[in-house]
Amino acid sequence: MRNAHDLTDKRPWTGHAWGPNIAALTTRQFPERRPLMSNSTAGVQAMSPHALPSYLNAKDLGPWGIYLQQVDRVTPYLGALSRWIETLKRPKRILIVDVPIELDNGTMAHFEGYRVQHNTSRGPGKGGVRFHQDVTLSEVMALSAWMSVKNAAVNLPFGGAKGGIRVDPKTLSRGELERLTRRYTSEIGIIIGPNKDIPAPDVNTNEQIMAWMMDTYSMNEGSTASGVVTGKPIALGGSLGRREATGRGVFTIGQEVAQHIGLDISQARIAVQGFGNVGGIAAKLFAQAGATVVAVQDHGGTIYKASGLDVPALLKHVSEHGSVQGFMPAETLPDAQFWGVDCDILIPAALEQQITAANAHQIKARMVIEGANGPTTPEADDILHTRNIVVVPDVIANAGGVTVSYFEWVQDFSSFFWSEDDINTRLVRILREAFAGIWQVANEHKVSLRTATFIVACTRMLQARELRGLYP
Ligand code: NAD
Repeated sequence: MRNAHDLTDKRPWTGHAWGPNIAALTTRQFPERRPLMSNSTAGVQAMSPHALPSYLNAKDLGPWGIYLQQVDRVTPYLGALSRWIETLKRPKRILIVDVPIELDNGTMAHFEGYRVQHNTSRGPGKGGVRFHQDVTLSEVMALSAWMSVKNAAVNLPFGGAKGGIRVDPKTLSRGELERLTRRYTSEIGIIIGPNKDIPAPDVNTNEQIMAWMMDTYSMNEGSTASGVVTGKPIALGGSLGRREATGRGVFTIGQEVAQHIGLDISQARIAVQGFGNVGGIAAKLFAQAGATVVAVQDHGGTIYKASGLDVPALLKHVSEHGSVQGFMPAETLPDAQFWGVDCDILIPAALEQQITAANAHQIKARMVIEGANGPTTPEADDILHTRNIVVVPDVIANAGGVTVSYFEWVQDFSSFFWSEDDINTRLVRILREAFAGIWQVANEHKVSLRTATFIVACTRMLQARELRGLYP
């Protein structure tokens, strides 16, 4: 595997080994190719309109429907590569597994598990595993596709994948959680692996769950395979800096956008939804840079202080009490008022579909940085765009986590571990380079940053598809 980020070689975002010159690709005419097997049955099928796969419900596509709309928006900018667009509109592989476990009371329970590999044209699948009672196939499909886009946007040598189990892990004992994780890993073991698909933590999964996944896969393989998952404990080949990486990425991209729009971070007022791994770290870094964090919302409520919340004290409060609720000194606001808070930067870092047509008109911020995956609906995106509010999409804003996961995977392969300084320096550099390219494309085409990120990413994925050709 080639190292996509050989940092001794300062390559601009255009024209390097893994990042073809996007401007040239989108305008270049690919040579005419003969139609696929014309005058044959297969040819007729290839030419026929592409029906929705039977496992989807056209009336309720869920998060996958949002992803499809985003792909449709980018298609006109892909030039000749758009002939491959259908490959992005259906996942490469979907595995649905039954996960039976024995509960502590001796009864059996069955859970539904998924692993979806959306696209692997540029490398092995990469993406987290979510344990949540509301996980659906549509959600896992959308999250896997956003991983493909994110990895290509940052130019990591990965495709996109995601997994999940429909379970409320809070209802399980530690033993039950371990049995669930091990059985799920064993079931999806036929499609994951250090060179095939590398899971990582997502909502309600953590370093311990990654350790159990790594151990189960290794036991089945007969040798330790630390590169099969990322987000592991440091003692098992995890990377320094991984836990903070997503929040650090949100901050880094926020700094870049602020420079472009003439916003002084040290004077900026910030509102954050979600004060966990992503929102908490991002808030801490913005506060360290002199910004004023005026409002924070989490599952427990919304707190506000015009002169600025004490972020280190709030982090301590949350680690002790589980929520921002009850933090003093601060006012409590009704949750709905969070979206209308007077601020310069709004960071949704909790859940999907939070900024909608219903609240997008209230937002006063100059920029929205998406720490969460999929927090803005397409309708809300349009409203914010017409109101000149810059939306920095998840597929670049929260890419810091997967970038350091990539470092972890590289370190595991080479069994050579880097210092935290090295990791943070490389992370910041990669994100800045990626964002510079996206900003340039947004200006060239006069499109939103989301569409620009999709242009860069889909071009890279489809160019890999074009170069590899269709097997057989
Ligand atoms: P986390 O579990 O550490 O934190 C989630 C936060 O959201 C908590 O503060 C929680 O109270 C809050 N929350 C939950 N329900 C809420 C509600 N109804 N209203 C308001 N707040 C609510 O999770 P995380 O790792 O910070 O992930 C947050 C988001 O970022 C998710 O969308 C995740 O997919 C995405 N993300 C995470 C990473 C990562 O490395 N952790 C990387 C990329 C994207």
